Amino acid sequence: MSGDNHGSQTGDNSLNVGVGDFRGAHLNINQTERPTFTPQQMDIQRAPAFGGRHLNSERVSAFGYVTGAASLFGLYFALFPFPGKQSSWTMLLMFALMVSVVMVVTSAVLRRRKFEHFFGSRHYLEIGDRGGIYVNRFTATCPWCGSNMHLRHVGPKEGPRSDHFICERNPRQHVIDLDPTLLPDIEE
Ligand SMILES: [Zn+2]
Repeated sequence: MSGDNHGSQTGDNSLNVGVGDFRGAHLNINQTERPTFTPQQMDIQRAPAFGGRHLNSERVSAFGYVTGAASLFGLYFALFPFPGKQSSWTMLLMFALMVSVVMVVTSAVLRRRKFEHFFGSRHYLEIGDRGGIYVNRFTATCPWCGSNMHLRHVGPKEGPRSDHFICERNPRQHVIDLDPTLLPDIEE
């Protein structure tokens, strides 16, 4: 019996391993006409709110779980055993439950995304490399005209909103989409 391999080892039937390799390619999803700028070109500055004070994300979610469990427990007794007395307690406990759910969800989202709009149009939550949660605002210098830019959370009232650097001098045309993954990490 011959050990010869009669199958062709050449030709075009080989697997093209490189097909899924996009390194070096420019993938333009949502292609726009706008040029892109690096954070260095825009001179992005991070301005801490609340004097740079921060919370620990582990503690925030632990506190959220404890508060949530306590308010669920309280809610049960507020709803069932004392008919007639429950209304204000129920509201308070419902509120505590909602707050704790928001805290747990926010710290989980933040750990994954590192960047999240917080409140108003200019405050953002960020997480540091050791789990600290910070409230920051961002400014930049407009690459077209050199004016100040502020990062703002804008969009239709009910619709999806996104984060843009908007020029003070020409807020209609000098607008830059932020890719938050380009921001430098917060070292703690
Ligand atoms: Zn400008």
